[in-house]
Amino acid sequence: MNYSFIVPSMLVLIVIMGYYFFRPRLPIRLNRAFLAILVIDICTEIFECVSMRLNETWVEHDPLLLWIFNTLFFIFAFIRPYMFFVFTVSVLDARVLIRSKLHVLAPIAYVPCVAIALTTALTHWLFWIDGGFHAGPLYWILYSCECDYAIFAIIAVLRHWRELSRHEIISLLAIQAMLIAGTLARFLLPNFVVMNMFCLMAIIVIFISFLNPDLFLSERGYVYNLPAFQALLAECHRRRRPCRVLGFTIQNYNEHREIFGGKQMDAALIGINRYLNETFPQMSSFYLRSGCYAVVGQNKPDLSALQQEISARFAQPWSTGAGELRLSVSFVEADTELMDCPSDRLVNTLMISLDELTRVSEPDTHRNLTDSIEEINQKLDIRKCLEKALDNDELEVFLQPLVDCLTGKRVAAEALVRLRNEDGKLIRPDLFISMAEQEGYIVRLGEQVLAKVCRFIRDHDMEALGVKWINVNLSPVQFMSQDIPERFSAILKEYGVDQEMVHLEITEQSMIDFSLLRDQITGLHENGFQFSLDDYGSGYSNLSRVRQYPFTNIKIDMDVVRSYCKQKDVLLPALIQGFKQMNLSITAEGIETEEMAGAMKDIACDYLQGYYFSRPVPMDEFVKMSA
Ligand code: C2E
Ligand code: MG
Ligand code: MG
Repeated sequence: MNYSFIVPSMLVLIVIMGYYFFRPRLPIRLNRAFLAILVIDICTEIFECVSMRLNETWVEHDPLLLWIFNTLFFIFAFIRPYMFFVFTVSVLDARVLIRSKLHVLAPIAYVPCVAIALTTALTHWLFWIDGGFHAGPLYWILYSCECDYAIFAIIAVLRHWRELSRHEIISLLAIQAMLIAGTLARFLLPNFVVMNMFCLMAIIVIFISFLNPDLFLSERGYVYNLPAFQALLAECHRRRRPCRVLGFTIQNYNEHREIFGGKQMDAALIGINRYLNETFPQMSSFYLRSGCYAVVGQNKPDLSALQQEISARFAQPWSTGAGELRLSVSFVEADTELMDCPSDRLVNTLMISLDELTRVSEPDTHRNLTDSIEEINQKLDIRKCLEKALDNDELEVFLQPLVDCLTGKRVAAEALVRLRNEDGKLIRPDLFISMAEQEGYIVRLGEQVLAKVCRFIRDHDMEALGVKWINVNLSPVQFMSQDIPERFSAILKEYGVDQEMVHLEITEQSMIDFSLLRDQITGLHENGFQFSLDDYGSGYSNLSRVRQYPFTNIKIDMDVVRSYCKQKDVLLPALIQGFKQMNLSITAEGIETEEMAGAMKDIACDYLQGYYFSRPVPMDEFVKMSA
């Protein structure tokens, strides 16, 4: 027998095991499967070595010893390929919930093999001992068992290749190729104990590609990282194993980092990581990013006690080597049992909540993620409604009158979009306009509103309604498409509406400095559209900036109006005089009382808008109102 392959491979295996055992391991199935491979592989190698040696020197030993060690070797040699297969299934399991028949049927291959090994002393099917070791008629099942599982694994990988990354597919197939090559080598070179070397190669591939503990550890040590957090929560969700999460964030982390420098902050973070690791060894601690942490427990830990403990520690300073750093934290807690939502949504919501909390001024603020999840679910519902309304042209447009200060009569209207949920209740625009902007629906939304306004103008006698124009709100995102002047003009043309009938509103806050916005507004203005600057006073525009745009009307924000009416000063009247000198007309928004209307009239506003005159109403009601 030639042992020159098995001895070095055992030594390398011991190095990998040592490295693996002494680093923190995430409690996920992948890790448990790998651990099982390591243990079973080393046992197989030991029993193989011992039984080979005993078989060689059989004269010196009791035959019972040969029976026992050979049987043990065969049992482990049958289980080892099964464990490699289980590992492949665990990788697939982390991507897709595989309910493959292969998975269920898999033990069928090794269970009878083990049974044959256990009964071979009676049957002599696998081997028998009689003046040394003799292979039995079923000795070939050793090769077959090894090959079967490699083939099962290849089939499973190929069936689910879409869910795997290229790197994962290559690694998993390489592992199977090595195992098959090992079986072939065992068959062709029975005197060289080479199979173990091929198993070792497969183990190294697994270790490098999937389970190097460093892949899951924070770069500052002691605690796990974000991918580890995602993997653990995904597994808990998949296996319906509830867990509790306490997230916390260092308040004003980025500002602290800027002030105290990266080196000092890193030293403090290392201290925090070590504290978490040492204080809560029964839980898993994670450094997510930018001063955000999560501590996860699977045995229903008392999160408020945990929070108190962490708060108390943060009341003390953290050593940074060069000095001490005082940091405060805020907390978010989550119980996956109560939330029952996909793990990626939970991770996202937790990160958003932590990001928000990092800026709150009160330390030790506490939030429950269940509330935020409801908010996110509500947003998703709104998005569904919005998509449906856009697809079926079901958005509603309400009109709110603008009143002429001189005559006290309605002179124009503002079009305000409305969305209804499935129960027929109205959803406020501030809940869906910014979503429509962020998720790319706003262009369609804006064009549908404009089309509805144009249809209204075409179908009604505007003069009889006392309406000289209708204001339509525009989002700055709509200006991103180059051809907006042509598209707007085309919509007006389709309904035969004159440009003078439609005024466009753009909010002061959205007037970020980008030249495309100015060019587009100028382009539309040249096409005959008039522009109003909406919500003036809520942003930071100064007069010279306003002058760069071709506005014809300024709408004073309702908060500015309200605060002026509460306490009169000289500022707003002076501002209005300034605008007037620039030939701009003035509209006051949010007029709710007669006094407010009077006050705005006194400082020479031209138009008034607000609940005092009318709330925004559906178009048909708007028509009836004038009658
Ligand atoms: P906005 O353009 O400043 O519209 C005025 C908002 O003030 C409207 O809210 C209106 O209902 C409300 N309002 C009017 N009078 C009073 C009052 O006396 N008191 C109070 N408290 N509020 C009053 P609404 O309809 O909820 O719209 C909110 C914002 O959504 C609008 O602010 C506008 O920026 C945006 N929006 C509405 N429709 C559209 C649209 O079709 N496209 C775009 N891009 N944005 C729209
Ligand atoms: Mg407006
Ligand atoms: Mg406004």
